[in-house]
Amino acid sequence: MDPSLDGRLRLEADRWLTVRTHDGTLPISWSELEEFEFDGAPFKLKDRQRGIRKPRELTAALSITTAYPAPNRPRRYADELGPDGLIRYKWRDDGQESDNQALREAIRLEVPLIWFFGIAPGVYKPIYPVFVVAEEPELHQFVIAPDSVRGIVVPGQPIDEHLRRYALRQTRQRLHQPVFRASVLHAYETRCAVCALRHPELLDAAHIVADREEGGIAAVRNGLALCKIHHTAYDVSVLGIRPDLVVEIRSDILAEIDGPMLEHGLKRRHGEPLMAVPRSRTDRPAVELLEQRYAAFRSAG
Ligand SMILES: [Zn+2]
Repeated sequence: MDPSLDGRLRLEADRWLTVRTHDGTLPISWSELEEFEFDGAPFKLKDRQRGIRKPRELTAALSITTAYPAPNRPRRYADELGPDGLIRYKWRDDGQESDNQALREAIRLEVPLIWFFGIAPGVYKPIYPVFVVAEEPELHQFVIAPDSVRGIVVPGQPIDEHLRRYALRQTRQRLHQPVFRASVLHAYETRCAVCALRHPELLDAAHIVADREEGGIAAVRNGLALCKIHHTAYDVSVLGIRPDLVVEIRSDILAEIDGPMLEHGLKRRHGEPLMAVPRSRTDRPAVELLEQRYAAFRSAG
C-alpha cells in the first residue's frame, strides 16, 4: 500500500463531502456519491451492498455504513452506546471476514473514516472523521469514536463519571444529533411544520418529548421540523400542537396586539393544521408523544 495515496484519498474525500453537503448541512444521495472522482477517475466512497468499504488500493477501510431500516423493522445491526459513552459497531457478517479485517487495519493505522448513516432509502448523512479505536472480539464489535474523544477515552479501561459524560456528550453532538436533524429535515422536505419556511439554516429538528434514554438516535416520529421561532415557541409553550396536528397558541398571546411576527407568525397559526408533515406514515409524529406534550402545553397555559 502507498501511504501517501491513503492520506490523499481520505483528505480529498473529506473536502469533497464538505463541499457537496454544504458544510454538513445537507445529506447526500447514492447517485451524488457516484460523482466523486479521485486522480481523474470515478471512485466509490461507499459500497452499494456492503456495510464496509475497503478499496483495493488501501489496506484499511475507507467508510462504514449504517443502512436505513425498512419500515417497521428494527435496524439490522443495532449500534449501541458502550458504558464509556462511545459507539459500538457490530461485526459485519454480510460481507466477508476481510471487511472486519479492514476495520482492524483502521485501528492499527489510526486513519479517519466516513460513517454513512442511512436517513431514507438511498440517502445518507455522512459523519466524518470518525475513528475505529478498539475491538471487543468477545462481543463481536468495534468501538467508534469522534475525533474529539480519540485518545482521551480508552475502551476497556476504568473511566470516571466526568469523562464518561464528556464522551457521551461528544457522541451526541457529533453523531446522534446530526443524524436526527438530517432524518427529520428530510422527512419534512426541509420545511417548518408550522409555517412551511424552507431554509435549512433557519430550521431545527425539535423533539416532541425529551429523549428518555441517553443512548441511540431519537426516532423521526419523536421529531418535528420547526423554524427557530416556532421551535422556541414550542419549547416555552407559547405554541402547542394538538394530537390531530392542529396548532394552538396560548390564550394570553392571542389577546396581545403587536407587530407582524406576533400577528402572522403566531396568532394566525392558531387553529390551523400543520403545513408540513412527512409523506411516510411511519415518520409522522407519534400520537402518544403528541398527547404527552400537548398535556404539558395545556397545563402551562
Ligand atoms: Zn416556522
